[in-house]
Amino acid sequence: MLDLLFHNVTIPHSSERMDVGISDGIITYLAKTEDEVAPAKEVIEADGRVLLPGLVEPHIHLDKAYLLDQMEQDATNLTEAIQFTSDLKKSFTKEDIRRRSVKVLEKCVGYGVTHLRCHVEVDPIVGLKGMEVLLELRETFRDQVEIQLVVFPQEGIFKQPGTTDLMEKAMLLGADVVGGIPYNDNDAVEHIDFVFALAAKCNKPIDFHVDFSDDPTQLAIRDIVKRTLAYGYQGKVSVGHLTSLASVPYDEAKLIAADIAKAGISVMALPATDLFLNGRSDQERVRRGVTPVKLLLEKGANVSFGTNNIQNPFTPFGTGDPLDIALLLAHVAQLGTRQDAELLLDMATVQAAKAIGLKDHGIALYNKADFILFDTTNPRQILLERPPRQTIWKRGVKQRTIVTERR
Ligand SMILES: [Zn+2]
Repeated sequence: MLDLLFHNVTIPHSSERMDVGISDGIITYLAKTEDEVAPAKEVIEADGRVLLPGLVEPHIHLDKAYLLDQMEQDATNLTEAIQFTSDLKKSFTKEDIRRRSVKVLEKCVGYGVTHLRCHVEVDPIVGLKGMEVLLELRETFRDQVEIQLVVFPQEGIFKQPGTTDLMEKAMLLGADVVGGIPYNDNDAVEHIDFVFALAAKCNKPIDFHVDFSDDPTQLAIRDIVKRTLAYGYQGKVSVGHLTSLASVPYDEAKLIAADIAKAGISVMALPATDLFLNGRSDQERVRRGVTPVKLLLEKGANVSFGTNNIQNPFTPFGTGDPLDIALLLAHVAQLGTRQDAELLLDMATVQAAKAIGLKDHGIALYNKADFILFDTTNPRQILLERPPRQTIWKRGVKQRTIVTERR
C-alpha cells in the first residue's frame, strides 16, 4: 500500500492525466489516471491540477543577502558592488550572517524550493565565519531544503594572500563545491588552475562565477572548457553569469556555446543581477547583459537560472522566489511561447537539478518525492498568473500549506 497517492494530476511533459504514488519518501507508482485507484493510506484528489517537482535554486548568496539597510550608498556598477560589500563584510558577525541567511531560507522553503546551492564567501576579511554558520544551517534545514555550500573566493584567490588555505580548510569542514571567480583575480588562468586542482583533490564539483561583463574579450570560459576536458570533469562544472558571451560576434559565440555543451558545462543565467549591473557604459543600444540563453540551449547546453543576490549592492531587488526570476528571464530572453513556459519550469526544476548534480529529482519512478501542487490545471499559468502553491512535500512529508499569492 502506498503512503500517498496524487490522483489525476497534470505533470510536466505528459499530455495524459497521471497518478503519482509515493512510499517512504520515494516515487514508487506512476501511471495514467484510470477509474481504478491504487491503494494508498491517503489519496489527494487533484482534479487535474499541476504537480511540479520541488523548485531548485542553483545559485544564491545567503551570507550577503539583505544589506540595503547597512549600505551608505547604492552601487552603480560591478566594481562598486564588490567594494561596498567587501567594506560591509568587515563588520559581519556570525549572528548577523545567521539572521539574514535564515530569513532567505525560510522564504525559499515557503516558495517550494527543495534544493539550493549557496555560494559562501571565504576570504581573509570574513574568514570561515559564513561557512561555519551555513554548515550549521545546512543541518538545521535538511528536512525542508537540501543545501549545497560552495566555497566562494569573492575577493579573488591570489589577490588576497591566505585565501588558498582558507578554501582548503572550508573544504575539510564539509563544503560541497569548489567555487571560483576568475574575473576578480590577478591572473584568470592561475585562478582556474587552482580551483580545478583543489576540486580534483577533494573529488568535488566546481561552480564558477565567470565572464561577468559586456567585454567580448573576457572569455575565461575557454580555459574552463579546456580544463574541464583535461580533468575529465564533464557534468561536474557549472558557471554563473557568462554574460560576456552575449557581446561576442554571433559566429564565434556559436562555437563557444557548442564547446560548452560538449564539455557538459551547465550555465546559470542570473538575470536580476546581470540586467542591473551590465550595460552601464552603453549610452545607446544598451545591451541586456544576460548570457545568450537561446543560443546555449540550441547548442545543447544545460541552462538554468538563479536568484543570485537578494537586496544588496549587487542586486537591490529580490524575494528569493525562483518563479520571479523565471518571469524576468521569460521577458529578457524572449521566451514567450507555451513551450517556452514549460522550458522555464524545467529550468527551475530538473535542469537546475542537473546543474547542481542531483540524480534523483523530477517526477519519475524512484526519485525523491519532492513536489509542489499548484492551484491551476495549466502549467503555463504558473508563470503567467502565479497561482497559489497549495501544498509542498519534501521527501513525501507535507511541509506546510502556504498561500503565495501574486504580490
Ligand atoms: Zn553569485
